[in-house]
Amino acid sequence: MLSRKREIELSELAETIAELYCPSEIVLPEHIATMKGITFSNGDYGSAFDGLIEFENGSFHIFVNTKLDGDLRQARPRFTFAHELGHYFIDEHRQALLNGRTPSHPSYTNFASKNPIEIEADHFAASLLLPASRVKKDCVKRSFNFSLVQDISQKYGASITATVLRLMTIDKHPIMLVCSVQGKVKWFKHSHDFPFKWLKQPFGYVPKYTLAGTYFKNGEKFAEELPISANEWFEYVSDRDLSRNFWDYRINCVNF
Ligand SMILES: [Zn+2]
Repeated sequence: MLSRKREIELSELAETIAELYCPSEIVLPEHIATMKGITFSNGDYGSAFDGLIEFENGSFHIFVNTKLDGDLRQARPRFTFAHELGHYFIDEHRQALLNGRTPSHPSYTNFASKNPIEIEADHFAASLLLPASRVKKDCVKRSFNFSLVQDISQKYGASITATVLRLMTIDKHPIMLVCSVQGKVKWFKHSHDFPFKWLKQPFGYVPKYTLAGTYFKNGEKFAEELPISANEWFEYVSDRDLSRNFWDYRINCVNF
C-alpha cells in the first residue's frame, strides 16, 4: 500500500496533467501521448503484456494490448495506456527508463502486482482518468453506494475496479475491495480510513456468509448492497465497531 503522502503526490501530478491536456473533456491518454511526442501502437499482443513503455533511440514508445477490447477507447486499454504514461510522468520511473536502470517491463492491468513501481503507476492511472477535483464534485450530495460508482465509471470511461480504487483514495467513504476468483481471495485493497484490517483467511476461501461467499457457493446474485455484520468478513472486530453499519456488495468482473 502506498503511503498517504505518496498517494497525494501522484494524484496531484496526474491531476495537473489532466488539467493541462484535457481540461474540459474526458481524459484521453492518446491525446496526452501525442502532445508529449510519445508514439504508441495498439494491437493483439497475446498474453505477453497489457502495456509496455520503451525508451529507444532517444524517444518513448507505448504499446497497448487491445486483444480483449478491440480499441483504445474501452475502459481497460484506457487504464493500461494511463498506467504506461505513469511510468513516463513519474520522475523516478522516467529516470530509470532513461538511464536503462529498469529495462522495459511488461505491465498487466489486473491490480494484483505487489511491485511498488506498478502500484504507483496504477494509482497514477486511476488519478489521471478520474481527476480528484472533478470526481469530488460528482460526489457532492450523493451518498456512497454502487450506483454512484457506476455513474462515475461511465462518465470517466474507467472500469468499475479503477473507479472503486479511485474513490478509496479521495476520502469519500471507507472502502475495501476484495478480488476473489473461484472462491478464493486473490488480492484486497482498502482506504486508509477503513476500520477493519483483519480479513478472515486473507488468501484463502471467501467467508461463507458474505455476498461473495453465497455467490461462489450456489451462484446466488444479489442486485443490491446488503447490510451484514462486519465479523462475517473480518477477525478482531471490536464491540464498538460491530455497531457500525457495514455494507456488503458483490461485483461481477469479467474484465478489470
Ligand atoms: Zn508498469
